[in-house]
Amino acid sequence: MDYLFSPQAPVTVPVNGESRAFPVHRIYCVGRNYEDHAKEMGFTGREPPFFFLKPADTLVVVPSGQTGTMPYPSLTSNLHHEIELVVAIGVGGKNIQAADAAKHIYGYAVGLDMTRRDLQNDMKKQGRPWCIGKAFDHSAPIGPITPLAQAGDVNNADISLQVNGADRQRSNVAKLIWNVAETIEHLSAAWELQPGDLIYTGTPEGVAAVVQGDTLVGAVAGLGSLSVQIA
Ligand code: MN
Repeated sequence: MDYLFSPQAPVTVPVNGESRAFPVHRIYCVGRNYEDHAKEMGFTGREPPFFFLKPADTLVVVPSGQTGTMPYPSLTSNLHHEIELVVAIGVGGKNIQAADAAKHIYGYAVGLDMTRRDLQNDMKKQGRPWCIGKAFDHSAPIGPITPLAQAGDVNNADISLQVNGADRQRSNVAKLIWNVAETIEHLSAAWELQPGDLIYTGTPEGVAAVVQGDTLVGAVAGLGSLSVQIA
């Protein structure tokens, strides 16, 4: 096949204990999936799950033990961190039942759903799509994927984020409104999941702004940490 120009190389995420990389298809994100975060955003915390997407090439892939770099994005003066558990799909499917969801999971990672909150809020007010607030370049830092069998009890894992060494977000994955299996059930009713899909499952309370020079260190127990500096 001759192309008019070189196609983009596939986006990949390294896998702990595995020489082969995880090739990324799509990035799905769940909105307002922890009650105390939904409340801090002005909602009740009781609503069906809803989804948005980021392009695969918005990932900032940070190998184990390294600190990644995220450029401070354009058009915003209120860049927020959202620490999230990320699910990596290994087996696709549609209309997956929650009871069968584990068979579709390859592994888990720690991710940041970085958000231009001022732009997102403007779009919300106008009833317009969130893309400019959520799906911008370099908006999705992620650490290496840990395969399911080595990930421990992710559904009851502590999740946290520190900025310059100070606690910003601290919760437990057990507090998800829609847990991982239920999220996969809802998501796969709307889209046919494919191997390589990533699901950012939502953030707990404590979202706030970061500025140039800040260092973010996020963690989910059993999955290691994700370190990112804002350049
Ligand atoms: Mn989020």
